[in-house]
Parts: sequence; C-alpha cells; structure tokens
Amino acid sequence: ALKASRLHKSYNDVEVLGSVNMSVNSGEVVSIIGPSGSGKTTLIRLLNGLEQLDNGEIDINGSPFLKLLRHGADKSRFIEHSEHRTKIGMVFQSFNLFPHLKVIDNLLLAPRYHKMGSRTDLELQAYQLLDKVGMLEHAWKYPHQLSGGQQQRVAIARALMMRPQIMLFDEPTSALDPEKVNEVLQVIEDLAREGITMVIVTHEMNFAFKVSDRIVFMEQGRVVCDDAPQVLREGRNPRVEAFLKDVS
Ligand code: ATP
Repeated sequence: ALKASRLHKSYNDVEVLGSVNMSVNSGEVVSIIGPSGSGKTTLIRLLNGLEQLDNGEIDINGSPFLKLLRHGADKSRFIEHSEHRTKIGMVFQSFNLFPHLKVIDNLLLAPRYHKMGSRTDLELQAYQLLDKVGMLEHAWKYPHQLSGGQQQRVAIARALMMRPQIMLFDEPTSALDPEKVNEVLQVIEDLAREGITMVIVTHEMNFAFKVSDRIVFMEQGRVVCDDAPQVLREGRNPRVEAFLKDVS
C-alpha cells in the first residue's frame, strides 16, 4: 500500500501540485485522470521519487519512503528511504528501453544489479514475463526492431522483473499509434485482474472506467474527486462531468 500526504510541488514559483493526498491499498487499481497540465504526470513522478517534493510525505506499507524533516524555522531536508525504491515499478510514456541492449538484457539488467537471483533463475523469470506480455519470440531483438506497442510491452515486463509491490504507469499508451493502444491496455488489464497494485495516469477513459477500483480526478494541481468509477458515472460533480463530456 502507498500513502501520499500533503504533496506540494512548484516549478519556478508556479505551484503545480497543492497539497495532494492520495492512497492506494494493496491490490487496488487507481487511475488518475484530468485535463492536460493538471499535474497527473508530476504526481506519479513524485510517487516514484523521480521528482523532488517541496513538501509532504510518502509512506510505503506504513513506513516512510520520502519525508521532509524540518529543523527550526526555515531549514529542512528530505529523507529518502531508498530501499523502498525497488518496490515501485514504473512504465513511462516513451518506453525508455535501453537502446543498446537486447530485449532479454533489458529485462535482466536491474535484477542482476540488485542480485535478485541466480542468472538462470532470472532468465527463467524473464522468459516467463516475456511470454506473459506476448513478446517471447522477440527476446533477442533490439528495441529499434520493435513497434511502439511491442516496446511498451517489453517495458512492462522489465518493470515486473523487480517484483514490485506497486506498478506506476505514466500515460502508457499516449505515444503509440492508435492501432497499438489496445494490445498494451490488454496487458495492463490482465495485470489488474491478477491483483497487482497499480496507479495509472491515462487519457483512455473507457479503459480507466473498466479496470479501476478508484478514479482520481485532478484539476489545476488538486484532487477534485477520488471515487469508484460507478460513483463518478453518476455525474454528481459538474467539473468531472464537463471533462468527461469534453473527452468523449
Ligand atoms: P498532460 O495530460 O498534458 O500530460 P499532466 O496533467 O500530466 O498533463 P503535468 O505534466 O504534471 O500535467 O504538468 C503540470 C504543470 O506543470 C504544467 O503546467 C507543466 O507545464 C508544468 N511542468 C511540468 N514539469 C515541469 C518542469 N520540469 N518544469 C517546469 N514546469 C513543469
């Protein structure tokens, strides 16, 4: 489980996130939706420690991951418990595979570095995950020999190699050609059904409403609404309504 409290973030004195609270329980799938520029990507990058917080804290399984410690009136510093970092898997909009490594080596690099098992065991795990995302036959190719949808499926398998407790997806299909979107959404949906804890920033509304236990709607750096999809569908919040009408 992940709990983010009072997250603040500004770039050049412009507030991008203002006191965001968000939690994800084990086994839950939470989607983050909202207009362009509302802070969705910033939030998910903060959750992963990829972006520095200005204030607030993030706990993983009840123990601190990122926390601001104050000393006196104007001195403060961040404490990062980096042992939590490998518990969080991240899938980026732009795949971010290592271009000079074959698919199989993309999968093996991080778990080998973190000594997560013998080479044989890790290879077996890598082949199983490639099979799961339908990429086993491409194990010996380089990323540039694959379509965007295939690269993203490899990126998902690569993140799963670290056996994360939570997977974060930052607009995983927005860099794809339209006909490649579904093959990636299907993989993510399968993972959701397996009970993997996930946070997904997405513009794919049908998908978000289908797979999510909760949907967080953001606007101008704030969480406006955080509810089950069926509650959002009831249309009680006029801002959410207007957004959904706009994107459909
Ligand atoms: P989109 O749906 O278009 O991806 P988003 O909801 O993910 O948008 P963010 O990418 O989090 O929004 O951006 C929120 C705001 O923060 C935007 O106004 C953006 O211009 C600004 N911003 C994001 N990253 C930076 C940065 N590194 N430096 C300065 N401003 C930034």
